[in-house]
Amino acid sequence: MRLQGKVAIVTGAASGIGKAIALKFAQAGAKVVIADRDMKDAQITAKLFADDGFEALAVEMDVTSEEAVKKGVEKVISTYDYVDILVSNAGIQVISSVDELSLQDWKKMLAIHLDGAFLTTRECLKYMYKQGRGGSIIYMGSVHSKEASLLKAPYVTAKHGLIGLCKVVAKEGIKHNVRANVICPSFVRTPLVDKQIPEQAKTLGISEEDVIKKVMLKETIDGEFTTTEDVADIALLFASFDSNALTGQSMMVSHGWFMQ
Ligand code: NAD
Repeated sequence: MRLQGKVAIVTGAASGIGKAIALKFAQAGAKVVIADRDMKDAQITAKLFADDGFEALAVEMDVTSEEAVKKGVEKVISTYDYVDILVSNAGIQVISSVDELSLQDWKKMLAIHLDGAFLTTRECLKYMYKQGRGGSIIYMGSVHSKEASLLKAPYVTAKHGLIGLCKVVAKEGIKHNVRANVICPSFVRTPLVDKQIPEQAKTLGISEEDVIKKVMLKETIDGEFTTTEDVADIALLFASFDSNALTGQSMMVSHGWFMQ
């Protein structure tokens, strides 16, 4: 019960990696906030958790909207009084080469990954600084926070950007015992990745099997996907770490893809 008494907001927690992190935190004793733009799925997830005896709250939050983020965090504070942990995880993917990428898709990607991280961080920091209970902010980066791949310019740009944001938040937050870290997973089989497989196959003119073997898992040292459980374990480490020794860092969870 390493998170007993803590309140954790996880954005994009109605699906995939965010859902696994929220469950891991709930199992560790946290009150978890399933913050997602898809309220129906967020409510389904919160109910599943509640049915298993965990404390969970569904909150509608489009992380690109300043108003929605503000309202969502206010709802958390009015329900649980505090926020101790933020996992900025909500994300999408767009597959396109740079020469064919629309400005609209570029802006949409930066809005979700970067504006979303900034807005949720700013709103949570206001309370974390006032509360005097410290805090942990965790950004969902990617191997693409360190490496580039074809067809993912805005994603790679945004995921690199999160490392910069994390370092500043770590430096500014330390006097309030607020830590900030980034998790950098390789490919994880979630709806986000399942959608990409046929898209990449079409754009690259190869089979779906080859997208998995020759694109997604090519750089790993064992040809394996990372799991949502692997990522959730790292999130728990960052969330529950006892001192300020672990801040401003980015951790790969990538089957050896990109060793630092
Ligand atoms: P997913 O599609 O399973 O889940 C994403 C969730 O985010 C969904 O519930 C969706 O409704 C929500 N969301 C999307 N836009 C939103 C917005 N504007 N506001 C609030 N919620 C929004 O995807 P996933 O694979 O679990 O991805 C989660 C995060 O992990 C993303 O940031 C992604 O970039 C990152 N990531 C994924 C992988 C992977 O291989 N799956 C690898 C590295 C990093």
